[in-house]
Amino acid sequence: TRHVPFSSPLLRDAGYINGVWTSGDATKTFDVLNPATGELLASLPDMGAGETRTAIDAAHAAQPTWAARPAKERSALLRKWFDLMVANADELAAILTAEMGKPFPEARGEILYAAAYIEWYAEEAKRIYGETIPAPSQDKRMIVIRQPVGVVGTITPWNFPAAMIARKIAPALAVGCTAVSKPAEQTPLTAIALAVLAEQAGIPPGVFNVIVGVDGPAIGRELCGNEKVRKISFTGSTEVGRILMRQCADQIKKVSLELGGNAPFIVFDDADLDAAVEGAIASKYRNAGQTCVCANRLYVQSNVYDAFAAKLAAKVAEMPVGDGFEPGVLIGPLIDEQGLAKVEDHVSDALAKGAKVLIGGKRIDGAGTFFAPTVLTGVARGMKVAREETFGPVAPLFRFETVEDVIAQANDTEFGLAAYFYAGDLKKVWRVAEALEYGMIGINTGLMSSETAPFGGIKQSGLGREGSRHGADDYLEMKYLCIGGV
Ligand code: ADP
Repeated sequence: TRHVPFSSPLLRDAGYINGVWTSGDATKTFDVLNPATGELLASLPDMGAGETRTAIDAAHAAQPTWAARPAKERSALLRKWFDLMVANADELAAILTAEMGKPFPEARGEILYAAAYIEWYAEEAKRIYGETIPAPSQDKRMIVIRQPVGVVGTITPWNFPAAMIARKIAPALAVGCTAVSKPAEQTPLTAIALAVLAEQAGIPPGVFNVIVGVDGPAIGRELCGNEKVRKISFTGSTEVGRILMRQCADQIKKVSLELGGNAPFIVFDDADLDAAVEGAIASKYRNAGQTCVCANRLYVQSNVYDAFAAKLAAKVAEMPVGDGFEPGVLIGPLIDEQGLAKVEDHVSDALAKGAKVLIGGKRIDGAGTFFAPTVLTGVARGMKVAREETFGPVAPLFRFETVEDVIAQANDTEFGLAAYFYAGDLKKVWRVAEALEYGMIGINTGLMSSETAPFGGIKQSGLGREGSRHGADDYLEMKYLCIGGV
C-alpha cells in the first residue's frame, strides 16, 4: 500500500528544463488523482507557454552538441537509461498504476515495453546509414547523408504514460534530436519519473525536457508556433491531431501523428473459436479498453455468432474488476468521469437502438470510475459503437454473412490504425489481410505491438511509424551531397 500524497524516490513536484527541476514562473498548481480511489497523488506546477519557450531554447542550445557526439556515445547513454528503467520497473509501475489505474502487472508490462523502445533505438543509433549513388557523369560523386531534424516537441496521452513518450524520445535522442515533452495532465508522474532516470543515466541537460501543465492548447501552440521546433510528434485524438497539423502548416513543420482507431475484430466461421475468444479478451479488455488499437467493433460470422458470444461472455464474467494494486485484478478504472460518461453513452445508445446486454452494461457503484466489462449482442450499423472509438471495456458483436460484406463494413470508417481477424483458410487470410485498409493487421492474434515492428495508421489514424528500423526515419532529414570536379 502507498501513502497519499504518493511518495517515491523517482518523483519530483516540478517540470524538468535544461537539467533543472523547476516550476518556472507557474503561480498555480494542478492535482493528479488516482482514478481507482479519487485520492490526491500530487500537486504539480501548472506550467504553460512561457516555460515551454524556455525549454525549447534549452533544447535548441543543446542540440548541436548532442548531435555531434559519436552515435556510440548517445547509444551508451540510452542503454544506461534502459538499464535504469528495468532496474526500477516495480517503482515505475507503481507510479503508473497509481495515476492511470491499469492493473499493476499490466503497468509493469508497459514499463518493460517502453524500456524496449529505448533499448532498440540505443542499438539503432549506431546504424543510421547513408547511401552512395552511381553518378551519371565521370567527374561527379553522389552521396546521401541523414541528419537529425533538430528540436522535437512531443505531446502524449494518458493511456500509456510511459510507452507513448519512450516511442518518441528514444528514436529522437538516438539520431541526435533533442526534445521538449508534454505528457497528459492526467498522468504526468510517470513522465517525471522517466526524466529522473534519464538524468541519472547522464543524458545531458537540455536534451530531454518535460513540461507539466493543464493547458494543452497553450503548450501546443508554443511548440507548433516556435521556429526552433522542427518537428511535432503527437499521440492522441484525431481531433487534436487535426488542430496540431493545422498549427504546423504555417512553418511547414514536420509532423508524426498517432491518432484514433476504430479497430474491427473479425471472426470467420473457420476460425479456432477458443483462440478467437482469447484474442478478443486481449485486444478488447486490455487497459480496460482504453487503447487506440483495442478491438472496437467485433464482427462475427453468422453460424458461429451465438457460440462466440456465449464463450466470450463466460470469460468476461470471470474478469476481476478493481483497484489496479489488488492482486488478480484484470480491469481497472476508466481514466476519469468524462471517459466513463462516453462509455455509458455508447452503451445506452446501442440499447435504445435494439442491442442487448449479454453481460455487464453499467457503471460499478462506489469510489472510482469503474465500468463493468460488457458484451453487447444484436449490434448494428446505425449505433455510435459502430462509428466512434468507445475507449472502454465494451465488446459490441455485429453479425455478418460474407467475406465481401465484412470487408466493406470493416473499412467503412475514416480510421485506419489496427484491425484483427481470425480465420483458417490460407487463401482467405491473404485476401482479407490485403483488403483491410489499416496500418496494422493482427491475424489469429489479439496482440501485435512490439518495438521491433512499425506501429502506425493510415487514413485519418495518422502519419509516420513508431518502432522498428522505420521509426528512426521520422526524426531524420535526408541530405544529398553532389561532389563535382572529381
Ligand atoms: P485523449 O482523448 O486521449 O485525452 P487528447 O488528444 O485530448 O486525447 O489528448 C492527448 C494529448 O494532447 C494530451 O497531452 C492533451 O493534454 C493534449 N492536448 C489536448 N488538446 C490539445 C491542443 N489543442 N493542443 C495541444 N495539445 C493538446
